[in-house]
Amino acid sequence: MVIGGLDPSGGAGLQADIESAMAAGCHAVTVLTAATVQDSSSVHDFALMEPEWVLAQANAIMADFDVAAIKTGMMGSSANIEALANWYKAQHSNASPDTPLVVDPVLASNQGDELAADDLAPAYRAHLLPLATVATPNTIELMRLAPETETESEEDAANALLALGCKNVLVTGGHEQTTDVENKLYDKTGIISRLSWPRLDHEYHGSGCTLASAVAAQMALGETIKQAVTIAQGYTQQSLSKSDHLGAGQWIPNRKV
Ligand code: PLP
Repeated sequence: MVIGGLDPSGGAGLQADIESAMAAGCHAVTVLTAATVQDSSSVHDFALMEPEWVLAQANAIMADFDVAAIKTGMMGSSANIEALANWYKAQHSNASPDTPLVVDPVLASNQGDELAADDLAPAYRAHLLPLATVATPNTIELMRLAPETETESEEDAANALLALGCKNVLVTGGHEQTTDVENKLYDKTGIISRLSWPRLDHEYHGSGCTLASAVAAQMALGETIKQAVTIAQGYTQQSLSKSDHLGAGQWIPNRKV
């Protein structure tokens, strides 16, 4: 189950989630949190669904399907985050106690356009991150999510998220200036996976969504977190390296690979 916004460019959001899940051999069921007005260059506007609408969609699907993993992307408001977290807790204690939850903490687009009606960091900290099997922040999101006193280093910030109850944190390095992109998976014992990928030439629309959904799909198929994260990174790198310049702005990942 992928929960997020619709990006008309087809680069990010639910379309990225559907394509990424499908490429892994899964069927995506979708819960819309927001319609966005955007192209491959920037986000112009968005309209949020009310929490009642988000939960009504999730409930309809949950009553009908065996959902094997849940992934959240753009939530758009603190109210949506809180409502979804309470809903997940209720599911968790009843029907599906082991359903993995992948939280991609979407605060802004890759170009820095905000994708939220209010400051989401406190709501992520209070409600959704404590429930996450894995959170997938990039280094910028990580620093915005960690409490201010604990952002001395990436490791401190990752540990701060783990201390909230989040079981794993996959920190992605796509926004750093390094030659290679280094992604690190933390759990309570430290870094349990560290993979480097050659930095590709372009800017991409929806790379984070592609990766987080690929992780969720692999977990739905029963892979361990470490394996899921490894397979998902290989798939994402492949889809970025085969991406197309379909609009005038960022390149669109080719998730058919
Ligand atoms: N979800 C939606 C609906 C979006 O529009 C965006 C970015 O534009 C994202 C998520 C995050 O995209 P990315 O994977 O590029 O971080």
